[in-house]
Amino acid sequence: MTEVNKQRFYKKLAVTGLAFTLVGAGTLGLHSLNFTGEPTVASAAAETYTTTANLNIRSGPSTSNAIIATVKQGTQLTVVGQAASGWLKVSYQGKTGYVSSEYVKKSASSTTKTYVTTANLNIRSGPSTSSAIVVTVKQGTQLTSTEQAANGWLKVSYQGKTGYVSTQYVKESTGSSEPAPAPAPAASVYVATANLNVRTTASTSGAVMATLKAGTQLDVTAKAANGWLKITYQGKAGYVSGQYVRALAGMKVVSNPESIQVVVNKQNKLPENYVPKDLVYTTIPFTFKEQTEKKKMRSEAAAAIAQLFADAKKQGVTLLGVSAYRSHATQSALFSSYVQRDGYDKAVTYSALPGTSEHETGLGIDVTKGDGTCAAQDCFGGTKEATWLDAHAAEYGFIIRYPKGKEAVTGYKYEPWHLRYVGKPVAQAIKSKGITLEEYYGIK
Ligand SMILES: [Zn+2]
Repeated sequence: MTEVNKQRFYKKLAVTGLAFTLVGAGTLGLHSLNFTGEPTVASAAAETYTTTANLNIRSGPSTSNAIIATVKQGTQLTVVGQAASGWLKVSYQGKTGYVSSEYVKKSASSTTKTYVTTANLNIRSGPSTSSAIVVTVKQGTQLTSTEQAANGWLKVSYQGKTGYVSTQYVKESTGSSEPAPAPAPAASVYVATANLNVRTTASTSGAVMATLKAGTQLDVTAKAANGWLKITYQGKAGYVSGQYVRALAGMKVVSNPESIQVVVNKQNKLPENYVPKDLVYTTIPFTFKEQTEKKKMRSEAAAAIAQLFADAKKQGVTLLGVSAYRSHATQSALFSSYVQRDGYDKAVTYSALPGTSEHETGLGIDVTKGDGTCAAQDCFGGTKEATWLDAHAAEYGFIIRYPKGKEAVTGYKYEPWHLRYVGKPVAQAIKSKGITLEEYYGIK
């Protein structure tokens, strides 16, 4: 291959990879292929073959048929039938097509299982969250595996790459190539609207087992008599008065809190008492000196913000951190104090309900100018520092999470100081399209 052809070839592969990502998300369908004069195909039990070269999948069994996908060497294909003259009918990521049998070989006899991701998911180089991310795939992506899961991790193949995924976010596919079914409608999310006693029976004469803060999410299991609700609290059954409980319309609990791309907003909350596993102190300067949780971020985000601050400084832009991580306990205490002062209905209008603040993910950070002025205030907008962040944050994997003019989507007014780490590919896609995290994932 000449150098130019090589470049064209790789460019083509890159484009193909993008198309598959979109198929995974169900936004681009190539399934409705029309075959003119489809050849007779001998029925055969589906078997897995591996490509021995970068290989075109075509719409029919000859090189004159259109290329519907190009797959890399080592890609697993499911052969669904023999076609005429050295061609095999294959299924790949929900598409059906033909490949020359010359460039595939039958995979070892181990059983290949297909899995579907139940969340946007990192494929890592090893079976732990400290291993490097090989690729991030969207919810609904099909992965194959020939191995049994061990220690909660599964070795998988995806587009010729091999890596590991947490079994928590995949489920075995039934073998059909349909996209992952939509999740069952979420059960209502209930919260306490006042500091609330959990009692052993459904009346005020029951002994108090615990007192929950206003804003605490309740695990309601049944309606009891006289307006009381049965709940599960720390593994035990208890009862609370329904008078101080609210079912939140449209609220969902996110299924992928550990994902770097998790969407947390006023309609999508973190599970109760969620704590990120890999929080570390950032090394950047803040507007205050004490080592508090506000200086913490998840390790990947902490490294990225340090690089961003260092490069900004080289370009004459000095930044300070204002507030990064906020624990669930802190947010709960804060929210509860507001409820004490103003009542639940007023408090929710100006304070994030526990679990819905992005600062609880360890991926968000408020920043300001080097002189510390305009910290989390509108006057930060339009400054040299805000302009630099808008132009360069995506290069470090951050987005301006609450952009101007997107209040209806994000639920927040413009916050030029609030950065959210999502990783470089997603940040750059969001920046180049001028959209929000919600719009990128099609989540409200
Ligand atoms: Zn913020």
